[in-house]
Amino acid sequence: AISPRAIVSDACASYSTLDGLNEELRPSLLDLTNNTDFFSYYRLNLFGRECPFWSDENSMCGNIACAVNTLDNEDDIPKIWRAKELGKLEGPKAEHPGKKLQQERYKKPLQGELGEDVGETCVVEYDDECDERDYCVPDDEGSSGKGDYVSLVDNPERFTGYAGEGTKQVWDAIYKENCFSKSSFPKSASLGSSPFTRQGPAANELQSVMREHGRQQALEEQQKQAPGTPFVAETGLENEDECLEKRVFYRVISGMHTSITTHICWEYLNQTTGAWGPNLECYKHRLHKFPERVSNLYFNYALVLRAVTKLGPYLKDYTFCSGDPVQDAITNSKVQALTSKAAEVPQIFDEGLMFVNGEGPSLKEDFRGRFRNVSRIMDCVGCDKCRLWGKLQTAGYGAALKVLFEYNSSKDVPVLKRTELVALFNTLGRISQSLEAINEFRTMVEAEESGS
Ligand code: FAD
Repeated sequence: AISPRAIVSDACASYSTLDGLNEELRPSLLDLTNNTDFFSYYRLNLFGRECPFWSDENSMCGNIACAVNTLDNEDDIPKIWRAKELGKLEGPKAEHPGKKLQQERYKKPLQGELGEDVGETCVVEYDDECDERDYCVPDDEGSSGKGDYVSLVDNPERFTGYAGEGTKQVWDAIYKENCFSKSSFPKSASLGSSPFTRQGPAANELQSVMREHGRQQALEEQQKQAPGTPFVAETGLENEDECLEKRVFYRVISGMHTSITTHICWEYLNQTTGAWGPNLECYKHRLHKFPERVSNLYFNYALVLRAVTKLGPYLKDYTFCSGDPVQDAITNSKVQALTSKAAEVPQIFDEGLMFVNGEGPSLKEDFRGRFRNVSRIMDCVGCDKCRLWGKLQTAGYGAALKVLFEYNSSKDVPVLKRTELVALFNTLGRISQSLEAINEFRTMVEAEESGS
C-alpha cells in the first residue's frame, strides 16, 4: 500500500513527486540546518514550565520506572543507555541575554534608531508578545525565564526509551484536540482549559472525536491477535466525510507522530550491542502496516514545503542575525537558494481551499486554538530531548499554518519571530529525513520479501 504511485489526498502530488522534490531540495536544507548558527540553535523554555494539564509526576517518563516498559531489565543495561540518560540534552547551552544585555550589546535603545549595520531583526528577541494570529503559544508565556539556546545538531531526534503510560497520556491528549464541534469552540475555553475538563458539547464530542485515533489502536490490536491479517485497503482517512479543515488538523498531528516514530526506528539503540542504527521491525510494526500514517507524513511534507515556498519572497531582506554580517549574508543566500528552488515546482498544497466553504470560515479560530493547545501539551512530555523536538515541531507546524493562512494580503502579514523561522525550517528538515528513511525502510522490506 505504500507505493510510490500513491496519491497524497488533500495535496496535489504523488509520493514519487514528493520524494523527487525531497531528493532535490534535501542538500540545501541540510546545509541550512546543519551548517548555519542561525538555524542550528533553538531557543526554548525547556525546563521552566509545568505541564498545565495534569501532574507532572505521572508523566515524567524519562525515569527508569517508566522505561521498564521498553527495556527488558533496566538494571542490566549500562547506565549510559538508560532512558533517563538517553533523554538528556548534550552539548553546551547558552542563556538568552536579557533585555539590558541586548541593549548593551547593540548599544541601542530597544525602540527607535538602530545601530549601524544592525538590522531590525538583530535587536529584540522577545517573543512573549502574542499575536492573535499565532498557532502556537509563545514559548516563554507564563514564565519569567526567556529560555536557553540548545544545539539541534548535538541533540538529534532519535530513540530515547521514553515510553509507557506517560507517553500514552500525552498522545491521547494531543489527539483529543482533534475534537471539533459544529459550533466554534469558545476562545477562552479552547486556550485555557484542560482537554480533560471540558463540559457540554465538547465533552459529548470526545466519544466520536477519538474515532480515528481509536481506530488506529483497534488496528494495532487486530494485528496483535491475528498477525499477518491483511488490512482492508486504506485509501485515506476514515473521517473522509469530515470537512477539509478537520482532516487537515488530524493529518498534521498524525504526520508529526509518524515523523517522530520514523526517527525513533531509524536511529534505534540495540541494547545488546550498544550500536545505533535502523530497526526494521520497529518500522514494520509501527508504520509499514499503517499506510495512512505514512500518507499523513507525505501530506505534511507538502504542507510545510508550500509554507516555506510562500515565505521565501518575504525573507529576501531578512537579516539572519548571528552577530557576524558575513555569516548572516551566507545564511540569507542559503535560504534563498532553498526557497527559490522550491518555488520552481507547481503548487503542491492549496491553502486557498481552506476556511472558505461550508462551516470552514467559522472553524478557523477553533483550529488555531486547538493547535495552540497541542503546543501547550508539549510541556507534559517527560523526556528532555523528546520535549525539545516535540516543542520545535509543533512550533514549526504552527509557523507553517500561520504563513499558509495569515499571509494573504501583502499589507498586513504577521512577522515571523526568529524561533518560528528556526522551527519551520528544522521541521521541514525532520520530515525530509523521515521521507528518506521511509524509502530506505521500504527497500529493506522489499529485499526481505524477495528473499535477497
Ligand atoms: P506511540 O507512538 O506512543 O503511539 C500511541 C498510539 O497512537 C498507538 O498505539 C497508535 O494507536 C496511535 N498512533 C501511532 N502512530 C500514529 C500515527 N502516526 N497517527 C495516528 N495514530 C497513531 N521517544 C523516543 O524514543 N524519542 C523521541 O524523540 C520521542 N519524542 C517524543 C515526542 C513526543 C511529543 C511524544 C508525546 C513522545 C515522544 N517519544 C519519543 C515517545 C514515542 O513517541 C512513543 O510514545 C513511544 O516510543 C512508545 O510507542 P508506542 O509503540 O507505545 O506507540
